[in-house]
Amino acid sequence: MLGRMQDWPLTVDRIIDRASIWHGHREIVTRTVEGPIVRTTYADVHRRAKRVSNALAGWGVKLGDRVATLGWNTARHMEAWYGIMGMGAVCHTLNPRLHPSQIAFIINHAEDKVIFVDLTFVPILDAIIAHCPTVERVVIMTDEVSMPETRLPNAECYEYVLSEQSEDFTWGGFDELTACGLCYTSGTTGDPKGVLYSHRSNFLHTLITMSSDIMGVTGSDVILPVVPMFHANAWGVAFSAPAVGAKLVMPGARMDGEAIYELIEAEGVTFSAAVPTVWQMLLQHVAANDLKFSTLKNVLIGGSALPEALVRGFHDLGVDVRQGWGMTETSPVGTVSTPTPEIAHLSYDEQMPFRLKQGRPPVGIELKLVSDEGETLPHDGEAVGRLMVRGPTVASSYFKDVGGNILDDEGYFDTGDVAIIDTNGFMQITDRAKDVIKSGGEWISSIDIENVAVGHPKASLAAVIGIAHPKWDERPLLLVKLKDGETAEKQEFLDFLEGKIAKWWMPDDVVFVDDIPLGATGKIDKKILREEFKDYTLP
Ligand code: ADP
Repeated sequence: MLGRMQDWPLTVDRIIDRASIWHGHREIVTRTVEGPIVRTTYADVHRRAKRVSNALAGWGVKLGDRVATLGWNTARHMEAWYGIMGMGAVCHTLNPRLHPSQIAFIINHAEDKVIFVDLTFVPILDAIIAHCPTVERVVIMTDEVSMPETRLPNAECYEYVLSEQSEDFTWGGFDELTACGLCYTSGTTGDPKGVLYSHRSNFLHTLITMSSDIMGVTGSDVILPVVPMFHANAWGVAFSAPAVGAKLVMPGARMDGEAIYELIEAEGVTFSAAVPTVWQMLLQHVAANDLKFSTLKNVLIGGSALPEALVRGFHDLGVDVRQGWGMTETSPVGTVSTPTPEIAHLSYDEQMPFRLKQGRPPVGIELKLVSDEGETLPHDGEAVGRLMVRGPTVASSYFKDVGGNILDDEGYFDTGDVAIIDTNGFMQITDRAKDVIKSGGEWISSIDIENVAVGHPKASLAAVIGIAHPKWDERPLLLVKLKDGETAEKQEFLDFLEGKIAKWWMPDDVVFVDDIPLGATGKIDKKILREEFKDYTLP
């Protein structure tokens, strides 16, 4: 027997429809790519997104066609998103930090028809467009005054296009399983693969992120997504902020500590989300200038492991940190380290080990740990295994079936992460499977060593990689980028690690480097480091 409730397709256009009716006057503040701060509202985004849909329909874009964006977090980018998704086209977010040849590969693989691009990224498209035959039109997200010289064929000015269109467009009317967004993984593990979100998965992910133990945002929050819309959908914030009716602050192209701090203070930001490296820059700026936060209360940090120094740095400034773990394939929220009541009543220092773990899954996400042989491992805080995940917001296969079947017999997706789950249900990533250092048949967690090393007062960034060793297979090498103006001896770092990590994990050597390469999603790119140090001989 079926239930007798309404079949109301979970499509994301309903999120912005509702925001325009019930939170229509709520502001979206953007630091524009052109420079000035511009204020619009959810009602404006809604109206202008309808104009985007009309323009796309006029250019022949149909249900299921891919329309790409190459842009910063701005109100215009959000209008393009909702305009594309609302009409049933697929919004393909391109990551500008990828190598241009990879961007071209992805555009061609997705067969993008139209690309919305920010001024900053026009040169990237200029260089590759000749190799992207499916692209019929490029819309430059600016006004007529700021239109650049470009060799792009069929380049349109966003504001001019919108001025020509009507605000009358009927969104939806398609199945909730219709594709809605497309985001390629950054290729740190092979060629980029397309994760194809549905309206339903994005809608459910929005509900998940809105719950108190996950992002915990409300209509009274002022939300600053530093995490880019091209990085796993800004972790869903461009959906959850309008869904709760929160004021939204979009940082545009300026992501440095000073610019982010200025926006937080000027706009009264209460909640923000970004990867650790961004927060490190912000806290360095705050410390160097003896600043404080007057409104910021909560930050969500994810994308790579969270160093303790960062959690404490924020705590000392009155800001609570939650760590999130997730992947492009999981929409992306998979777990969040919100303390349970048992942990919340502990002292702050006793809570710390839990805050440094990646946390517990929300409703709708199921996790299991498996051994290399595929047997399920216990949640005992000791068994180390591959982390598997399933749920309605998890990918079932990649776009165009790249990689074939990606699920096990029980429908779980292999995350490629290696983890432990403790008796409180807190999951902890110990490594990516390919970053694990195998020494004498045992695994050394590069993440654990990095997290301690980066807490050294002179360290700006730290990375640990495995170096081939005749006796032990591999041994850890610690690479350190010092803070500006600092000098240090190797021994200072080894002394600092002493007692904080297992003796046999102690790096065999320390190398000070000018830079540690970050990949397209702000994470340390160990592929490059491994290549650079492949012939390194340990002492
Ligand atoms: P990629 O960088 O490969 O494109 P994602 O941006 O989807 O992919 O990154 C997903 C990966 O990032 C996870 O599988 C995990 O290895 C890592 N990751 C994400 N959040 C955390 C976290 N809080 N702690 C440690 N690792 C994390």
